[in-house]
Amino acid sequence: MNFSTLSLPQEMLTNLDSLGYKKMTPIQAEALPLILDNKDVIAQAKTGSGKTAAFGIGLLNRLDVKKFRVQSLVLCPTRELADQVAKELRKIARFKHNIKILILCGGESFGKQLGSLSHQAHIIVGTPGRVLKHLNKDSLNLENLETLVFDEADRMLDMGFMEEIQSVLEYVPKERQTLLFSATYDNEIIEISKKIQQNAVSVKTVSTESANKIDEYFYEVSSKQDALIKILSTFAPENVIVFTNTKIEAKELAENLQKINIDAIAIHGDLEQYERNDVLVQFANKSCPILVATDVAARGLDIKELSMVVNYDIPHGSETYTHRIGRTGRAGHDGIAITLYNSFEIDKAEEYRNDTRKFESSDSLKVKAGFEMKPQYVTLVIEGGKKDKIRAGDLLGALTGDAGLKGSSIGKIDIYDRQSYVAIERVLIKEAHAQLSKGKIKGKKFSVWIL
Ligand code: AMP
Repeated sequence: MNFSTLSLPQEMLTNLDSLGYKKMTPIQAEALPLILDNKDVIAQAKTGSGKTAAFGIGLLNRLDVKKFRVQSLVLCPTRELADQVAKELRKIARFKHNIKILILCGGESFGKQLGSLSHQAHIIVGTPGRVLKHLNKDSLNLENLETLVFDEADRMLDMGFMEEIQSVLEYVPKERQTLLFSATYDNEIIEISKKIQQNAVSVKTVSTESANKIDEYFYEVSSKQDALIKILSTFAPENVIVFTNTKIEAKELAENLQKINIDAIAIHGDLEQYERNDVLVQFANKSCPILVATDVAARGLDIKELSMVVNYDIPHGSETYTHRIGRTGRAGHDGIAITLYNSFEIDKAEEYRNDTRKFESSDSLKVKAGFEMKPQYVTLVIEGGKKDKIRAGDLLGALTGDAGLKGSSIGKIDIYDRQSYVAIERVLIKEAHAQLSKGKIKGKKFSVWIL
């Protein structure tokens, strides 16, 4: 676990020691030998794990200070992360004079960045949109790039940066080392790794291989709606899909919950395509914590990390049951599956009894005083999308630049052909709406509204 076990220059080791980095963190111990061996690495690591030093030591070790060309590019989803990464890189780079690290993020003066770029840099840390803009304008040259790092790759995908990333790749040499860091490790990340890396070795410090645990509870209740509210209050799940057997029930239940400050939307076969899309976007980007759905309407729904599934009605058959509850407890997280039944449905419920399912009395469920469920974000809709050449970076730039929001207040960004959706922290929605309505995106005015 000692840095001295790695073949690093003595002055780098001395510097790490002076920074108080006495031992490698788990992600560093696993990833650094591979990174120093020039391998493409895909690493699962969160902020706080020491991931920046893991790729930082790697890219600095390859760097030739005398060659005044951009040799490393670190792409980050937000300006805050880019600032943080650059700060950490500067600390690790202290052992050598004259290493120049430049930040290129959206929402900052383009002209000032042009000035800095004209003086050249060794390492660029930036957001995909702004980096691409410099590449398109020829103010940035990546022909000498040796190391390309994607930090918080999952969040970059969430924010809709895939298109920009692909365009950036057209400007970088094929022969390079590509390092991909992501807090989550799922098929989407594996797919992107295949596109941008070569024979990538994966490093996981958090085990995600154990089977997902789903706790299954069955409650006999007299009023399903009251029981549902008690369940939501007792378990406090972050996001829930409630399954009903009919679309009328789905609609009514969502309406009733809304009336008592529990934010729910229904999805059922009667919705127009665009309405369906609005609902799914809001649920997936955390602008609504509860989705009430029929089986047909929920088909093809891919929501990651769902904390709870409720069978408001006993499903028709055990196959549907398994399918429904399989949506929770994904990606290494435990899930909760709850089934409600009334006295007429006892026989049907009994068919599900086994050793692992817990049949409990609903007496233990209570509603906390003042209980309500409000979402973390609210969705802003912009009447412009891919066809208007709008990219995630443009929206992020407009919101964090002129509108003055922090990158951390912005959630998922989804860009469709003619519309874009941005999740904004609930408390900031009015301000973001006002600012974005006043200003321009890519020099053009777009109508903006709150969903
Ligand atoms: P990161 O996950 O890159 O955001 O790093 C989290 C924090 O851990 C940063 O403040 C680093 O300065 C610090 N750090 C990184 N590597 C080490 C290490 N080997 N020992 C002690 N602190 C470290």
